[in-house]
Amino acid sequence: MDLSKLELERYNRQIMISGWGLEGQKKLRASKVVVAGLGGLGCPASLYLVAAGVGRVIVVDKGRYELSNLNRQILCWKSDLGRFKAEIVKEKLEALNPHVTVEAKVAEITKNNVSDIIGDADIVIDGMDNWKTRFIINDYCVIHEIPFIHAGVSALSGQITTIIPKKGPCLRCIFPRVPCETERVPILGATSSLLAALQVMEAIKLITGLGKPLVGKLLFINGEDMTFETLRIERDSNCPICGDRHNET
Ligand SMILES: [Zn+2]
Repeated sequence: MDLSKLELERYNRQIMISGWGLEGQKKLRASKVVVAGLGGLGCPASLYLVAAGVGRVIVVDKGRYELSNLNRQILCWKSDLGRFKAEIVKEKLEALNPHVTVEAKVAEITKNNVSDIIGDADIVIDGMDNWKTRFIINDYCVIHEIPFIHAGVSALSGQITTIIPKKGPCLRCIFPRVPCETERVPILGATSSLLAALQVMEAIKLITGLGKPLVGKLLFINGEDMTFETLRIERDSNCPICGDRHNET
């Protein structure tokens, strides 16, 4: 289906991007992206996905907004405190862009419900604040060959990589031992928004076919001295999830 006059006007400045065009915009409209977690990463990520015209965005979080979230979880305003994050985000995003569908899921992602929540999504954005759930999502995405865009943030620093199953390492290849869980990590809103914006850029590149994704590379951002460093990361053939041995059995 062709883009409407209003859609053409709304997306005009990005349709102009070389290699994007009407086809790229239609691909975005036909895509389904899950944003897992609606904190400092998930709020701005879902905002930019919807602003860009991703046709179906599924926003997932079990929590309610608290005052200490407001420094970074930019879709929560003072009057929203105490309400479910997923419901608030859906309301705000639908008000921003009526041409897309936003689905709210008030849930904690577990091994039991991960298939119901992610289903046949085209891409999953990591907005989690804990490794246990990140690994549940990673494992599901590897098995179902869904790209998973990981990011993590602490204070003025962050990291991001794009996991495309079979094309590069998965989260378990990169972190063979589950990192320590830390409650209440210090975070500046500008840091999480920066990483979220990069996650959306990666998602849009994968959907439209623009550029080269951050596969097999881990980008570290240090905001204190404003350095960006990219490390090469390899797939582990013995990985319990994406390793060759696992695939043969
Ligand atoms: Zn792996």
